[in-house]
Amino acid sequence: MTRPDTATLAVYPGSFDPIHLGHVDIIHRAAHIFPRVVVGILENASKDALFTPLERREMIRELFADEPQVEVRCFSGLLVNFLKELDATIIIRGMRAVSDFEYEFQMALMNRRLYPQAETVFLTPKEEYTYLSSRLVKEVVALGGDVTGLVPDAVRHHLEARYRKATHPPTR
Ligand code: ADP
Repeated sequence: MTRPDTATLAVYPGSFDPIHLGHVDIIHRAAHIFPRVVVGILENASKDALFTPLERREMIRELFADEPQVEVRCFSGLLVNFLKELDATIIIRGMRAVSDFEYEFQMALMNRRLYPQAETVFLTPKEEYTYLSSRLVKEVVALGGDVTGLVPDAVRHHLEARYRKATHPPTR
C-alpha cells in the first residue's frame, strides 16, 4: 500500500474534560516519537461536560505553552475527517488496561475502514496513571477530595473553582 508521507504529525483525540496527568503522560510520549502532535478536543453535545471545548483547549494550550510541537484544536464530527483536514494519518490513543481494549480495537478498525490510511498507535502511561480518568477526577473533586498529583495544578484550581461555584451559587 502506498502511503502519503504524513507520519510527521500525530493526532491525539479525546474529550479531555478536563486533561489529567495520564493524558499529559501520553502527549509527552507521543511528542518523543512524532515531530508534531495535535491534541484534538472532541466537541460533542454531551450535556454532562464540565468545561466547554474552548475552556478545555485553553487549559491544554497553557500547559504546553513551552512545547511548540504540541498544538491543541477542537473538532466535531468524524475523527477521520479531522485527520484529512490536517493531512494526517496517525491517531494516538492511550491504553490503560484490558478494559480499554475492546472499545479501542473497534474504533481503530472502524477508523481504518472509513479511512484506509489511518493508523492507530497505542501508548501506555506510567503505571501510576493507569486508573485515572476524567470522570473519576471530577467525582473526587465534586465530593471535596484532593486530586493533587493526578491533574496539573492549574487544572485542579479550575476544577475546584467550578465545583465551588456549583455548591455555592451566587446569592441574589
Ligand atoms: P477520559 O477517559 O479520561 O475521560 P478521554 O475520553 O479524554 O479520557 O480519552 C482520550 C484518550 O486518552 C483515550 O485514548 C483514552 O484511552 C486516553 N486516556 C484516558 N485516560 C488515560 C490514562 N489515565 N492514561 C493513559 N491514557 C488515558
